[in-house]
Amino acid sequence: MNLKGRSFLTILRDVERGSISPDDVNEYYYRNALALNNTINAYITLIKPQQSSSDGPLRGIGIAVKDNISTRGIRTTCASRMLENYVPPYDATAVERLKNNGGSILGKTNMDEFAMGSSGENSAFGPTRNPINTDYVPGGSSSGSAAAVAAEMAPIALGSDTGGSIRAPASFTGTVGFKPSYGAVSRYGLIAYANSLEVIGVISKTVKDAELLFKMIAGRDLRDSTSFNVDLTSRDVGRPRILVLRSFVRMADERVQKVFYDSISKLERAGFIFDYLDEFREIDYVLSSYYTIACAEASTNLSRYDGIRYGPRLDVAGNWRSYIEAARGFFGSEVKARIMMGTFILSAGYYETYYLKALQIRKEIRAEFERIMKGYDAVYIPTMPVLPWKIGEGIRDPKMAYAADVLTVLPNLTGSPAISIPVGKSGEFFVGGQFIGLRGDDMKIISIASEAENALEVVRHE
Ligand code: GLN
Repeated sequence: MNLKGRSFLTILRDVERGSISPDDVNEYYYRNALALNNTINAYITLIKPQQSSSDGPLRGIGIAVKDNISTRGIRTTCASRMLENYVPPYDATAVERLKNNGGSILGKTNMDEFAMGSSGENSAFGPTRNPINTDYVPGGSSSGSAAAVAAEMAPIALGSDTGGSIRAPASFTGTVGFKPSYGAVSRYGLIAYANSLEVIGVISKTVKDAELLFKMIAGRDLRDSTSFNVDLTSRDVGRPRILVLRSFVRMADERVQKVFYDSISKLERAGFIFDYLDEFREIDYVLSSYYTIACAEASTNLSRYDGIRYGPRLDVAGNWRSYIEAARGFFGSEVKARIMMGTFILSAGYYETYYLKALQIRKEIRAEFERIMKGYDAVYIPTMPVLPWKIGEGIRDPKMAYAADVLTVLPNLTGSPAISIPVGKSGEFFVGGQFIGLRGDDMKIISIASEAENALEVVRHE
């Protein structure tokens, strides 16, 4: 059985026809995962497939799930020593919905600890490697989900996106990464990093694959009051009207810009209509407002890891403070740095200066985004401003890694759907481009990205 390069959709079609069995499919990906995990380090936990017999549309096929999404009876570590042995007693809603559709879990994927990072380097289980060239990062924080899909270690995967964590690794590995609108997928069971910014989404080989899984996990959930029923009816956009934000494109290095502008010429020939906007002043504030809000929320969320409720058992003599200090030692240095920044941002005297100001700026960015979208179906910009970097560089220079988020955080601040697809190549690596829409226009963005994928034909899938 060789399923190399096959999209999830065509695999399901063949299973439906009876030409391959779900067990063959599970065996294929499981074997590849076992064989490659030593090098790629895409999985923290891999699960031997059971004989499957499901009538649901997913037919018992195993899906890779990022390790910050709760899975009943399967440890969910967030790539942290703090949760190394944590086994959730319940499934995240997204996982429950996949199971209700006949899906099963192939394994839990590696990630930046608590989803804090853009490269996959910040994992307590060691960095994930880029299957295209293993000296390089695969992007993060959903590093294992993207690497698994790119390396044929999974047919499709769930990830989460707070500030780019689905799209960054999709861009660096030549896969498709879809970040739904904020609230389009329930966050119940997603271990929180920054609640007001994040959402669960899909990493896949093709846009249609992402659409299939998205439709299964989307929709209102009583256990997440921010969730809503996003419109899932297919949209035919015709000739899409696209706005290119030049101030964003300029942040990318020359190689990325070249591939990006080449893709525009090809899309124009396919009927896309492009306009250009030079001024989007808010670009200067997207990173600072994102990191202010994200760290503030992280410091609050992560205060629950006090050594009592979670974490390895501690035998520390002394007072309460030494106990807490020992417990907090199970966090990696990036996580600790963000907790400290967040605590500072929320402390008396700084709360107004930093936190409230960041919220105010987010509001202005939203208003400005809605204003510029009038008359357009989507915004189009590169996903990452740089090509993948060598493993270790992001640890040596965390500010470089933060700056790499400059093109991905906008849709998280606006709650928009955004999808990254490979739009060309530069040397051995792919360059990702992202389409961003108004909140709730998920199906419109999917339809545009699917058209673009067909027109550009960067990766051929059967
Ligand atoms: N790189 C960003 C951060 O570290 C985004 C991470 C994410 O989307 N989870 O915050």
